[in-house]
Amino acid sequence: MARKTKFAVVLGAGFSKCADLPLAGEVSNFIFSEEFDSSLDKTITAAIGEFLKGAFYWERGGLIPSLEDIFTMIDLSANSGHNLGRKFTPKLLRAIRRILVYRIFQILDRNYRQSSAIHTFLEHCLPLLQEERIGFVVLNWDIVLERHLEIFPDVGIDYCIDALAWSGGKDNSSFKAKIAKVHGSSNWVYCDNCHSIFYDRYRKLSLEIKAGLNKADLRLFDEATTKKSYLKNMERSSTERDCRNCSCAVGPHIATFSFKKSFRTHAFANSWLAAEKILADASKWVFVGYSLPAADYEFKHLLKTCHLRFAKGKTPTKQIEVVLHDDEVAERNYRGFFGNYDVSFFQSGLENYRSHFQLT
Ligand SMILES: [Zn+2]
Repeated sequence: MARKTKFAVVLGAGFSKCADLPLAGEVSNFIFSEEFDSSLDKTITAAIGEFLKGAFYWERGGLIPSLEDIFTMIDLSANSGHNLGRKFTPKLLRAIRRILVYRIFQILDRNYRQSSAIHTFLEHCLPLLQEERIGFVVLNWDIVLERHLEIFPDVGIDYCIDALAWSGGKDNSSFKAKIAKVHGSSNWVYCDNCHSIFYDRYRKLSLEIKAGLNKADLRLFDEATTKKSYLKNMERSSTERDCRNCSCAVGPHIATFSFKKSFRTHAFANSWLAAEKILADASKWVFVGYSLPAADYEFKHLLKTCHLRFAKGKTPTKQIEVVLHDDEVAERNYRGFFGNYDVSFFQSGLENYRSHFQLT
């Protein structure tokens, strides 16, 4: 009997857009949104404003620099132990980085809604999940895929890394969806001391336990924060926040928008290996809402090496389908990167792709 086709489904920001999450280019527009109106939120907003004024000559109401620019400037200075101008020391830059990541998680949490297009697509994928013929490679930090998979009570999640459930307990699901999250995830936290990684399937764990956010960072921007009463509420008890194995503080586990992303921790290495295996094993690749941006040059290199691995002469080894939403620029990126062999484009969004999606 012929071997059945294996699928790799690669999800980019356009997939999460189906669930109303903002695209990367839109996130910075919400940094100063007035909906973040608690005392803690206002301190965070003021700290980010102070940084943008000092480093980018930003003024209220003015154009906010892209997240790539913000994080790349922070990371290149802080990671090499240098100031960014007179004021922003590496210590201050690392603090602003943690504060910014927290705000971005807040932004990603604000608009979420269930998407019927995603549900329909996943229902179509269910036989593939049951036969273990599909793996997901996800470039996003959000948990849109995980939340939509909840419609299948039998389907658990395998992040393909050595991750532990934050709340303990066993996963008794009959099948597991393989999901390699190469840029990390908002429902993961990482312990810098014992290198454990934890996840919570249903919650944005980092946001929930305010992982990585601490009083000392906020004090760097506002000395008066020590006295403010909201800080009592900000920090949960250590049993709620600290590493389950060694009781050290845990932080978020994501690769930020920086052009110089950090993939040095071992959990990233495992996620990347898992992505490589999913891509190499599959003969059919389906890209959903991913535009092959230049900033993802390391991921593009992974795609290219898997694409060419068993290729001989002009015969490609992968059948590629790309689902976009009226994005001619992205289509040109793909045509340039993969050539014209066996690459099909569907430019009318995920909701209309289902009828074209063949399981063989
Ligand atoms: Zn630990």
